[in-house]
Amino acid sequence: MILTYHNVDLLPLDELTVGIFAFIKQMLKLRNYKVVYLEDYNIYDDTNVVITFDDGYSGFLKYALPVLKFFNYPFEVFICKNFLDTKNFIKTKDLYKIIESNGRLEYHSKSHYNLTEIKEINILEEEISPPEELKLYDENGFKYFSYPYWKYSLSVINIIKKYYNGARSGNGFADNTIWALDSIKMNNKTKIEGKK
Ligand SMILES: [Zn+2]
Repeated sequence: MILTYHNVDLLPLDELTVGIFAFIKQMLKLRNYKVVYLEDYNIYDDTNVVITFDDGYSGFLKYALPVLKFFNYPFEVFICKNFLDTKNFIKTKDLYKIIESNGRLEYHSKSHYNLTEIKEINILEEEISPPEELKLYDENGFKYFSYPYWKYSLSVINIIKKYYNGARSGNGFADNTIWALDSIKMNNKTKIEGKK
């Protein structure tokens, strides 16, 4: 299974934020699984888990990163270029901290538009293709894409195939192929099953 987190903070103040105590509990449960990078993920092996974070919230960096480092879990952070360096999001100068902690950087589009509503191919390309200046931060990264609002179309997938090895959707929108991998939207109450 693939877990999709957004923000992690001291308290679960909104639907997209998991509180640090619930997050630690969920990470403890994962000791019974094999936590892997997306690159090594086997859809058919139910002991495999991938931990992913969308959007690149600064709360993630402050609260989730030390916990992930403690457990020594690999994880993937899907960043949105236009969110970087804005309020509540990761600063570009801190991206190296993710790599240092066994994390990988992946892409979540330039502007976080619903890609299925964009008709112009050149704008889709601009939204989907990974920026060269960001690729410099992670030589193993930017091989996977996560769809804003989980949404994709055939023309979106055709562009994804040019730049990536796969893409992640979820929350009821995925067909669970490598181009729209299914994932679980994590919240404060999500229970992870015990021993496999
Ligand atoms: Zn997002």
